Amino acid sequence: MQITSHTFKRNASRALHDEKLQRALTNVPTGFVDKRAKARDRLPEFDLLRDEGAAIKNHTLAHLDLYLEAYERKVHESGGHVHWAPTAEDARRIIVELCTERGAKLVTKGKSMVSEEIGLNAALEATGVTPIETDLGEYIIQLRGETPSHIIAPAIHLTKDQIEADFRRVHTDLPADRIITDAPELVAEARAVLRQRYVEADIGITGANFLIAETGTSITVTNEGNGDLTQSLPKVHIVIASIEKMVPTLEDVSTILRVLARSATGQEFSSYTTFSTGPRREGDPDGPEEYHVVILDNGRSGILGTEFQDMLRCIRCGACLNHCPVYQAVGGHAYGWVYSGPMGAVLTPSLVGVDKAGQLPNASTFCGRCEEVCPMRIPLPRMMRSWREREFERHLSPATTRAGIKAWAWLASRPKLYGMVTGLAARALRLLGGRGGRLRRLPLASGWTQYRDFPAPEGRTFREQWKERQRG
Ligand code: SF4
Repeated sequence: MQITSHTFKRNASRALHDEKLQRALTNVPTGFVDKRAKARDRLPEFDLLRDEGAAIKNHTLAHLDLYLEAYERKVHESGGHVHWAPTAEDARRIIVELCTERGAKLVTKGKSMVSEEIGLNAALEATGVTPIETDLGEYIIQLRGETPSHIIAPAIHLTKDQIEADFRRVHTDLPADRIITDAPELVAEARAVLRQRYVEADIGITGANFLIAETGTSITVTNEGNGDLTQSLPKVHIVIASIEKMVPTLEDVSTILRVLARSATGQEFSSYTTFSTGPRREGDPDGPEEYHVVILDNGRSGILGTEFQDMLRCIRCGACLNHCPVYQAVGGHAYGWVYSGPMGAVLTPSLVGVDKAGQLPNASTFCGRCEEVCPMRIPLPRMMRSWREREFERHLSPATTRAGIKAWAWLASRPKLYGMVTGLAARALRLLGGRGGRLRRLPLASGWTQYRDFPAPEGRTFREQWKERQRG
């Protein structure tokens, strides 16, 4: 997948002028945000569980090498195979080889952002293997030749009309008078097509929400059951997961699962939470004959021990995206790679480099909602600030921005002068704002005033008011 994060500003501007996208994005706050708030209110220990979940992940990351080795031993004991993939290229090669060595022609896939990260579908197609996405959202975007715009709702950027048009274009046997505008009808139509694919598939590839060191188990959490069919019907099941998906025990994962679905979709629990340990055993009614786990690093071990390590606690619930005013305005494609919203603004520069994705941490109002709702208590604004500092240090930000920040720093480090200048500016702006208290145009702030008025200050700076109150 080509990275366009470096053109975020242009991408965002295009997204703001895309009427269909804007219509589709109105569903984000009304759906996910309200449902999460209700789910949180129904669970008094919700915040306690967040603390426990974050502590479990911190402990795991501090001993990640030991848990990865323990996990590998357990997978071997259960008859499975572990493949280590230091880079995206390694992961693609391993999976393509597994497919071609077995003469696979058709592969079904359960939702996996990591497979998007490594560009797996294109690699499979290049060797003559057809990958079929089975999650409804992923299936829709595959029909359109697009990438996901949200980590748990990949097709959230589309309206129902657009999806209906795509189904009619590809499912050519659909009767013209059959109405397929509602979600259940769209699901039924996709299910009818996919059912046959599950049976025909040679290999099933899924992601994993968690890997359990204690038992060598991979866990997938879905709402459609597509993950179960993908991993249990074909003869071979390949799991692709990144190193930070590790959790020590089943007990630990049960704690984290209690906040995952509530944060993501506002459900108490997802419809399916599937545990896979090794291939089918004698007497098992179903299951694959071979079970492979490809564990991807792709830059993550380089994040360990840095100021960005907390990001590796992320459980991909999507809550930070749903609550982010920037994501709500521009959607996920504007971020230019697999991961979007606040988590993408931190993770993308960590994985692809600040030179390619340095614009993303600037796409934040620093309102702090992402951190407030994150079930893993990830300090996203703090880390975006760190990326901004790195961007500045490496001279990657525009010269005008750098000059502005330098001037501000010079002024802010001279408190008396700072007080005088800001006091004068506050009074002047109040006068300019007139009776309405709003400014139509403001030099250096045209990005704001081009679209809306700027509220004029009330006339006195915060420091002046603070001093006055201290005096009583
Ligand atoms: S950063 Fe937090 S809120 Fe965002 S996806 Fe990850 S766990 Fe969820």
